[in-house]
Amino acid sequence: MNSYDVVIIGGGVIGTCTAYYLSSKGVKVAVVEKNDIASGTSGKCDGNILINDKKPGFDTLMAYKSQQLFKELEKEIEYNFDYSQRGSLYIIESEDEWDVAREYVDQQVEDGYSMRMLSKKEIHEQEPYLAADIIGGIEIDCDAAINPMLLAYGLAVEAEKSGADFYNHNKVEDIILNKEGSVEAVITDKEKLYTDNIINCAGVWAPKIGKMVGIDIPIKPRQGQILVSEKTFPVGKRKIVEFGYMMAKFGGEDYSRDVSPELEELGIAFVFEPTLENNFLIGSSRAFVGFDTDISFEVMRGLAKRAVRFFPVMENINVIRAYAGLRPYVPDHFPIVSDVKEVPGFYIAAGHEGDGIGLSPITAKLITQMICKDTLSIDVEKLSFSRFSNNQNY
Ligand SMILES: Cc1cc2nc3c(=O)[nH]c(=O)nc-3n(C[C@H](O)[C@H](O)[C@H](O)COP(=O)(O)OP(=O)(O)OC[C@H]3O[C@@H](n4cnc5c(N)ncnc54)[C@H](O)[C@@H]3O)c2cc1C
Repeated sequence: MNSYDVVIIGGGVIGTCTAYYLSSKGVKVAVVEKNDIASGTSGKCDGNILINDKKPGFDTLMAYKSQQLFKELEKEIEYNFDYSQRGSLYIIESEDEWDVAREYVDQQVEDGYSMRMLSKKEIHEQEPYLAADIIGGIEIDCDAAINPMLLAYGLAVEAEKSGADFYNHNKVEDIILNKEGSVEAVITDKEKLYTDNIINCAGVWAPKIGKMVGIDIPIKPRQGQILVSEKTFPVGKRKIVEFGYMMAKFGGEDYSRDVSPELEELGIAFVFEPTLENNFLIGSSRAFVGFDTDISFEVMRGLAKRAVRFFPVMENINVIRAYAGLRPYVPDHFPIVSDVKEVPGFYIAAGHEGDGIGLSPITAKLITQMICKDTLSIDVEKLSFSRFSNNQNY
């Protein structure tokens, strides 16, 4: 009989990182993945480990703690997952943005994070290919990047070394609860795995797993498309984001960007990520189109236009491929990292939208602490599943 202390559903960065932390504490773990490791959103995204796109307060704290855990993982894991801490830049287009950016930086500095405004002269010295009319920026040193697929594989390899079993190409079809309504077993299309604890790390598919135990999980897919350039000279030295990205991510009325209605409609905001091999990735778009992962010419053109607006030199650099992934979106933009009171033994670690790579270690650490009944690294109230039953707006 296959019996485990914990069965993790989903082999993305959240599931593999959780398997890594749990198995390194001696917990007997199985990971069930319907395809291969990182075949979901974790294989169709960027690899930024940022605080620069987080709201001041809890959002930033969680991201910062995760950045610190990445530094440990880089030392602990033998597999090279392309970790680099080159910092990040926000670019500011207008005086209106400058004022909002100033407030943002003041708040973050007051909270103890190291970031600073860059004048026009400073930003153009640092990034000589930037469009001449950019008026300044924000520099954030602690931001980093990794390769998400290598990370997920590296974590899986380490978890296996500590005794975790991986059931790839096993699709979870049902969950059995006992007479008291607690978790008893996971049924896949090939196996029956007995366990008292299940962690739902199924990303955008988490609601389907939730239905198997009779709960509604308010996660929906928010598509994003990425362009990948040919290998070229270092156009930009680090992660570069337009300040308006915050607006595309969170929405809001604080200020408006000078973009065409078409770009606004497609949720396009410029995000540049250089890789260690000198290709670069260009994002980002945001759209609710169900589980559609087709790329569209309209979005690719929008991404390219926005990139050339900030880096005119990109007009002459070729795009070699494009792909789309599905961000697991939750209405309040916080992931769900929680037990589920209604179903003892059932946990959720999903709903990280555009932050799941960066937040994977803190998420996995928290779930491990919950299962092992250890002290939690941060207060998890904002991440609880019960927040949805308390708030009728969801
Ligand atoms: C374009 C784009 C850019 C992004 N850029 C960044 C970034 O720079 N930084 C960042 O932090 N985040 C980024 N993200 C977000 C990040 O990719 C996600 O938040 C993260 O990958 C979610 O990981 P996950 O493990 O929860 O989900 P997934 O990686 O989707 O893993 C879930 C797994 O569950 C499996 N599964 C589903 N149903 C079943 C079942 N029934 N049985 C068994 N297995 C099942 C799936 O096959 C899948 O492998 C980006 C996302 C997109 C789309």
